[in-house]
Amino acid sequence: MLDFIIIGGGILGMSTAMQLAEAYPDRRLLLLEKEEGPARHQSGHNSGVIHAGVYYTPGSLKARFCLEGNRATREFCQAHGIEHDICGKLLVATNALEMQRMEALWERTAANGLEREWLDAEALREREPNISGLGALLVPSSGIVDYARVTEAMADEFERRGGQLRYGHRVTGLDERHGEVVVHTSQGEFSARYLVTCAGLMADRVVRMLGRNPGFTICPFRGEYYRLPASRDRIVNHLIYPIPDPAMPFLGVHLTRMIDGGVTVGPNAVLALKREGYHKNDVSLTDMARMFSNPGILRALGGSLRPGLSELKNSLFKRGYLEQVRKYCPSLTLEDLGPWPAGVRAQAVSRGGKLIDDFLFVNTRRTVNVCNAPSPAATSAIPIGAHIVDKVKEQVRL
Ligand SMILES: Cc1cc2nc3c(=O)[nH]c(=O)nc-3n(C[C@H](O)[C@H](O)[C@H](O)COP(=O)(O)OP(=O)(O)OC[C@H]3O[C@@H](n4cnc5c(N)ncnc54)[C@H](O)[C@@H]3O)c2cc1C
Repeated sequence: MLDFIIIGGGILGMSTAMQLAEAYPDRRLLLLEKEEGPARHQSGHNSGVIHAGVYYTPGSLKARFCLEGNRATREFCQAHGIEHDICGKLLVATNALEMQRMEALWERTAANGLEREWLDAEALREREPNISGLGALLVPSSGIVDYARVTEAMADEFERRGGQLRYGHRVTGLDERHGEVVVHTSQGEFSARYLVTCAGLMADRVVRMLGRNPGFTICPFRGEYYRLPASRDRIVNHLIYPIPDPAMPFLGVHLTRMIDGGVTVGPNAVLALKREGYHKNDVSLTDMARMFSNPGILRALGGSLRPGLSELKNSLFKRGYLEQVRKYCPSLTLEDLGPWPAGVRAQAVSRGGKLIDDFLFVNTRRTVNVCNAPSPAATSAIPIGAHIVDKVKEQVRL
């Protein structure tokens, strides 16, 4: 029998596995992933931003782990020779309402312990000649990295510390028994004294496999991007974000410099009709039936019908998408928007219809399960892994 099994080869599974292997050097650890390599879902399809922690409710796990994770991600990258760039982020206000909201963000960034600078229109123009706005908030600690690369380095660390990785192993069932957890997979059965699950888009299904009602359903939201042509690679010096509506802080397409030197526009947030539905025409009737069996999902979607329809319209009509970016970057044209792969976010929705905002973990006697880990979970992966190791230490008797 093994000591620990970790399910999920995304950045959270790898970070946890790596830190568990350090905390328990003489124990047998195994990580199971259904795909043929690491970071094939959210961890490999995201904006690549090392967030600073601007929007999150002070005192929340997101605020705490993002701040710690920003520093920990940089240190990990430095120690492992992973290219990253702390290029800073500008939140640009384009009208009076956004200027008001920028003041609220000024207070929030202070409460979250961030260094920041208030720029007027002229100071903004000096820093970003291609961006127009009435003012901007500069957050210097935001940066960029390739999280797939970070996940691979964590996988290498895990193996170097004696852990075993098995790709192509889809977990199909779990039995939590007295003294062990049995994990059934497409390639046979494994058992361990303790289990950690970081299954992203499948988080609720894994909790169900343990015989528990998770009390939430994962709702997949596709984030679609465009990439600017190489001639536009130097269009911005920072990451450029709109000032968000505080009720929908995850909406609003941004201009993101990428570590390969390019610039993407996006992502939007459109309900995906399949859990791992990366394309507009991906549909799974089974996924949809399960999703809508949670009455909370309909309530949540109904509550944000207008912004939801607007995101859908802008997804179908490129011109609408473009207009969102032209608000602050007027020189962009339709021809500038080239194709770029989408990502799908795993967002937990409660049975009461609430989009669960903070990171959420569900524990049983022999398991810790990551249940809600949307952005900034890639930035926060190292402190989240450390938090899970602490939980395990509280519970585990080896
Ligand atoms: C469009 C988009 C943009 C984002 N931008 C950012 C950003 O800029 N900065 C940031 O910090 N965060 C960002 N995020 C969020 C971040 O990418 C995720 O929060 C993070 O990657 C979650 O990691 P994870 O390991 O939980 O999930 P995942 O990477 O999805 O990994 C879960 C793994 O579990 C495996 N799995 C599931 N079920 C099973 C099973 N039954 N058996 C075996 N394996 C299984 C899956 O195959 C998968 O590999 C973004 C997300 C998206 C989608």
